Amino acid sequence: MLALRPNCECCDRDLPPESRDAMICTFECTFCADCAAGILSGTCPNCAGELVRRPVRTAASLARHPASTTRVVKAGGCGSQTGLTG
Ligand SMILES: [Zn+2]
Ligand SMILES: [Zn+2]
Repeated sequence: MLALRPNCECCDRDLPPESRDAMICTFECTFCADCAAGILSGTCPNCAGELVRRPVRTAASLARHPASTTRVVKAGGCGSQTGLTG
C-alpha cells in the first residue's frame, strides 16, 4: 500500500492524497509534476527509477487507510546533479 507522502521531495510543495500532480517512483520517492517533468526529466534523483503519476486514493479508502503525514525532503534539494545546494 502506498504511504501517500504529503509533499514534493524537491520543492516541498504540498501533495495531498487527492492531488493529480503527485509523481512517484517504485520506492515511492514523491515529487510534484513540475519537478518531475522539469528538473528531474521523469527520472527519480534518488534511485534513477521511472516517475509515474501517483494514483488517487478515494475518500472512502482514505478513511480506512489514512495517508502519511511524514514529510520527506531530499537533502540539498534537486537543484543540480553536481550537488549545488545554493
Ligand atoms: Zn516539486
Ligand atoms: Zn526513487
